[in-house]
Amino acid sequence: MGKKDDLRSELQHLVGALRNHVASQKDAYNPVSRLTMKREHIPRREEEGLSAVKSAAKAGAGKTSLTLAGVREELGECTRCPLHRTRRNLVFGEGSAGAKLVFVGEAPGEEEDNQGRPFVGRAGQLLTKIIDAMGLKREEVYICNILKCRPPGNRNPKEDEIATCEPFLMKQLEAINPEIICALGTFAAKTLLRTESPISAIRGKFHDYQGRKLMPTYHPAYLLRNPDAKKLVWEDVQKIMKIL
Ligand code: URA
Repeated sequence: MGKKDDLRSELQHLVGALRNHVASQKDAYNPVSRLTMKREHIPRREEEGLSAVKSAAKAGAGKTSLTLAGVREELGECTRCPLHRTRRNLVFGEGSAGAKLVFVGEAPGEEEDNQGRPFVGRAGQLLTKIIDAMGLKREEVYICNILKCRPPGNRNPKEDEIATCEPFLMKQLEAINPEIICALGTFAAKTLLRTESPISAIRGKFHDYQGRKLMPTYHPAYLLRNPDAKKLVWEDVQKIMKIL
């Protein structure tokens, strides 16, 4: 890496850190958001958080007093799993808090970790193109990951990391209340659907995810390695577009 690249990466890191700081502080002194967060939605422990979200989902998608800003505030500068030691920036997610469509990927990569934003590397640029081709803008949808912090060297997420992080994703989904979730890649699909089936077997069909429609499709990083699969992803997202 040259000096310019170092400087660019350092600047991106600083901007990401600042963005995260602002996001985590945004609601800290906002009495309205505190008032809209009902007592039963402030769990004392993560497991309670998970069961609160599950029972809320059972009671019917859409009935919630969770807000995205409230979930961000609760997550804070998370140190709940060891990934916080190696991350540069936590990547919460971005897009519309009222999105009808949420994309869920695996975990931040290097560029996402640098910038504190999801899907901004090469795979992210391809995802942005897919969203454009759907006639949507990135700002209109919501984009996030199963894990909020980058696993070192982009290794696969570990079970305990998922168990720690997933309740926050569930709360994000509850707060956004999207019509459709698009799971990007094997990992997101297997985690959300609690299945061992390969992505090739489950993609292209809507599945139920706690009362919401979930469409698994190939991860954009897979498409970079296997461009022939782009047409299958296009078929999958067209099914989403028909409903939106
Ligand atoms: N891959 C993912 O799964 N998520 C990102 O945010 C970037 C790359």
